[in-house]
Amino acid sequence: MFKVRTEHIRKISGWTSFSTVAPGASIARSGPSVFSWPGGTVVPSSRGFRRPAAPAQRGKLVHHVPRDVGWIEVICGSMFSGKTEELIRRLRRAQYARQRIQSFKPAIDDRYTADRIASHDDRTLECVPVAAVREIPRLLHTDTEVVGIDEAQFFTEGLVETCEGLAGRGIRVIAAALDQDFRGEPFGEIPRLMAVAEFVTKNLAICVRCGNPANRSQRLRGTGDTIQVGAGDAYEPRCRACFRPEVIGQEQIEIPGR
Ligand SMILES: [Zn+2]
Repeated sequence: MFKVRTEHIRKISGWTSFSTVAPGASIARSGPSVFSWPGGTVVPSSRGFRRPAAPAQRGKLVHHVPRDVGWIEVICGSMFSGKTEELIRRLRRAQYARQRIQSFKPAIDDRYTADRIASHDDRTLECVPVAAVREIPRLLHTDTEVVGIDEAQFFTEGLVETCEGLAGRGIRVIAAALDQDFRGEPFGEIPRLMAVAEFVTKNLAICVRCGNPANRSQRLRGTGDTIQVGAGDAYEPRCRACFRPEVIGQEQIEIPGR
């Protein structure tokens, strides 16, 4: 006999109602299973309760997350929307789950340390800079399960094909990217990647002019080139109403009515 502890109930409370089992109740350690849930029984073990194999299913199984296959996740948004922070968070969680991860970024992006992904809030993760996205497959270890790609918008050729190839090999691919360039136009191959991805997360920043959610990156200085890798002070996040793509170089812009 042993006491049912609160954490035991917590572990299985998602499956069934525990109106019949109160904390502190005594149950038999051996013998027939004492709890049931809609799909089977719950068996006490030295590690709390384990869920036995599901009973035979009739018809097709439906998985709410992919199982035994690869897939593509895109984390997109404007500058300062927390894309890289989210990428690092997902990769770290995969590490906690003891999955083998590898991270890459375009060699063009040398803002921070060359061999690390770095978010604006100073989180970093080791990564390999590559000149072309097509280099990634041959740099993969045989047991890699999760691939992170930061600043994916800077890969100008082969991004979609490479990610599709990795996902086809059973790898979970997580790409963080700007979805719009400084003109507010879809950025390079990212729209296509979003189209073939299983999961798309769109992050919003905060407009520095008015405080609304911001999905545009206002270029404050520099040239008219689409790719201009710059530190944070070259851009600021702006909302639809405050965005002025035709204006570069005016740091103090009057917004009518504000
Ligand atoms: Zn605004």
